[in-house]
Amino acid sequence: MLQSESDLELSHILIEWYNENKRNLPWRNTNNPYAIWISEVILQQTRVIQGLDYFNRFIGRFPDVASLAAASEDEVLKYWQGLGYYSRARNLRMAAQDIMNRFGGTFPDAYQDILSLKGIGEYTAAAIASFSWNKPFPVVDGNVFRVLSRLYGMNVPIDTTDGKKQFSHLAGLIMDKSQAGLHNQAIMEFGALQCVPQNPDCLKCPLIHKCVANATNKIELLPVKQGKTKTRNRFFYYLYVTCKGKTWLHRREEKDIWTGLYEFPLIETERAMDFTELQQTKGFRRLFNDAGKLDISIGMEDVKHVLSHQIIYATFYKIEIERETDALRNFSILSCEEIEKYAVPRLIHIYLEKLGRNL
Ligand code: SF4
Repeated sequence: MLQSESDLELSHILIEWYNENKRNLPWRNTNNPYAIWISEVILQQTRVIQGLDYFNRFIGRFPDVASLAAASEDEVLKYWQGLGYYSRARNLRMAAQDIMNRFGGTFPDAYQDILSLKGIGEYTAAAIASFSWNKPFPVVDGNVFRVLSRLYGMNVPIDTTDGKKQFSHLAGLIMDKSQAGLHNQAIMEFGALQCVPQNPDCLKCPLIHKCVANATNKIELLPVKQGKTKTRNRFFYYLYVTCKGKTWLHRREEKDIWTGLYEFPLIETERAMDFTELQQTKGFRRLFNDAGKLDISIGMEDVKHVLSHQIIYATFYKIEIERETDALRNFSILSCEEIEKYAVPRLIHIYLEKLGRNL
């Protein structure tokens, strides 16, 4: 397919709409690739309203590549706390170090170099290259999939290799390459504000006469997804162990959710258990067999915490022990007041808030 006048006209309508309707966001008033990069990574899994605060705080503390590269992983994770998908924060820091080493601290402007940085995929590389240097790489995110599938009535599933290829090709075709950055921002914002997932206000849409989904009454059916990924249930029992004002935390190192964050001693089980059963588990006995008398109270029970592809059912017990055990020596020991200095998963943050800590 070759680019036609009609494709370009579409791009111009989108840009005109964007100029009239865009939200005023800090990363829109800059062509600084570092700020654009940080905003794009934050916004990958986060709503704009929530992301805005994080963006301002993050940029305030780490204003450039050098400051991010020099920071400790713990500190970067602390600034990310609550945003979820923590590998994003770790990758940002590693990519910043890579920019220092390979590019002398200057953000690379070649698409392939941007793509070679840790945590940057095709979408983010296209966003940085086009927003910062007006390079003609089309962005294809969830908003763009929706807009294109409806405008062109495309029902190839967006979560297949073939679908991604077709949408990417089309996204490039309708782009006015002389205004690549503006076009990309426009189509994303159009998806976010006008062509929304549920009940878009098509009567107000400047593209209504070009929209196949509107003409064929298929708006709610597009875009098509092939299938949902199976969700896995996990059962977490967190033990907030205390002894004379001290407590113990563990840094998650394994390749799983929340790598690099801190948590209380955890017993994970295959199914839900009451406390009597939990006490019989190997993990519990190993932790407490030489702890003396246990004073146990339940903190939060069966809290449902939904992540992508998994649901965690978490229960928190507070356990005061008489003396430190051998098993606890594998954890970091700290005073209870110091917990607030550590980056913890949102689930633990909620529990601590319930306990009355001002984190
Ligand atoms: S007419 Fe409706 S469905 Fe079509 S692009 Fe506009 S808002 Fe989206």
